[in-house]
Amino acid sequence: MPEAPPAHLRLTVDTGALTDNWRALDHLSGKAAAGAAVKANAYGVGAQSVVPALADAGCKSFFVAHWAEAAELLNYVPAAQISVLHGPLTTADANFARSTGVKPVINSLHQARLWQDTGGGICDLMIDTGINRLGLSPNEVSDRRIAELDVDILMSHLASGDEDNPFNHMQMDAFRSAAARVGYQRLSLANSAGIALGHEFTFDLTRPGLALYGGIPRQELDGIIKPVVGIDAAVLQTRMLSAGDTVGYNATFTAPHSMRVGVVSLGYADGYLRSWAGRGMLQYQSAALPVLGKVSMDMIVVDLTDAANCQEGDWLTVPYALPEAARKTGLSQYELLTILGQRFSR
Ligand SMILES: *Cc1c(COP(=O)(O)O)cnc(C)c1O
Repeated sequence: MPEAPPAHLRLTVDTGALTDNWRALDHLSGKAAAGAAVKANAYGVGAQSVVPALADAGCKSFFVAHWAEAAELLNYVPAAQISVLHGPLTTADANFARSTGVKPVINSLHQARLWQDTGGGICDLMIDTGINRLGLSPNEVSDRRIAELDVDILMSHLASGDEDNPFNHMQMDAFRSAAARVGYQRLSLANSAGIALGHEFTFDLTRPGLALYGGIPRQELDGIIKPVVGIDAAVLQTRMLSAGDTVGYNATFTAPHSMRVGVVSLGYADGYLRSWAGRGMLQYQSAALPVLGKVSMDMIVVDLTDAANCQEGDWLTVPYALPEAARKTGLSQYELLTILGQRFSR
């Protein structure tokens, strides 16, 4: 069987912009080093291109959520640089960590017990300072099981770093007081937004995710962070509508007069959700082409009135600047990245 031809849907990753973003965040981290959150296939951008590029730029700490994600990263970076945020839940998880050298992040007394009972070894430790997601409660920090751990990175995670909220300083204070009661090599609190909060928050190591990929969680990062992801989709068919013709599922757009439209290979399976309907705009040369009607499974329909020379097979650009896309769709910048589908040629 011949190799399948490339999709009529393209995702380009600007690895130069990605590594510029990492360097900028590393610089903003002051005396702390920047690591990288690369869970969820590097937020949908593709661990295969992201992780080697960041490693080349000098990044030495990588954070994933799942054990299978760590297994993929082992193709690109040394095991000792990989931390698994969800931690070990089963003996199989602990054995995988021990046999590969990937570090588990211990999040609970149960996980601490499991890790020690299966042989122990170097690990990271997550303290919950108020997000009430993963992590040991501050009152558990003095437990004997925790004192026995060999902790590299002691970390916590901010709930509201993207807001000016007194909660950020409360979490920092809680983190400092927990850190006074455990042994560790390095301290880490800040995500992307936390880096922009200033050097009180950066400690020894920062863990940016979103901003590496072009997300801007706080104004301070505007003008510093560059877009990383580009999307292009091909016109599959052009057609003429007459006045009164409707477009797409549920016929939500009715042509007010005769008009030329293009059917484009981009749909919700690719991450282009219905929240773009009535707001989306594609680009052909200098012409902006409004999306007409609902996203209909694998396709959208755009108005070609201002792109008379656009033909079947031509490529359209899908503007995907994250802060603006988030404002338009009501989706978060995190969602806009992680929903990008599997069908793009990359
Ligand atoms: C995802 C994650 C990060 C990165 O957060 P961003 O807001 O994307 O920068 C950092 N730390 C932990 C524990 C995470 O889960």
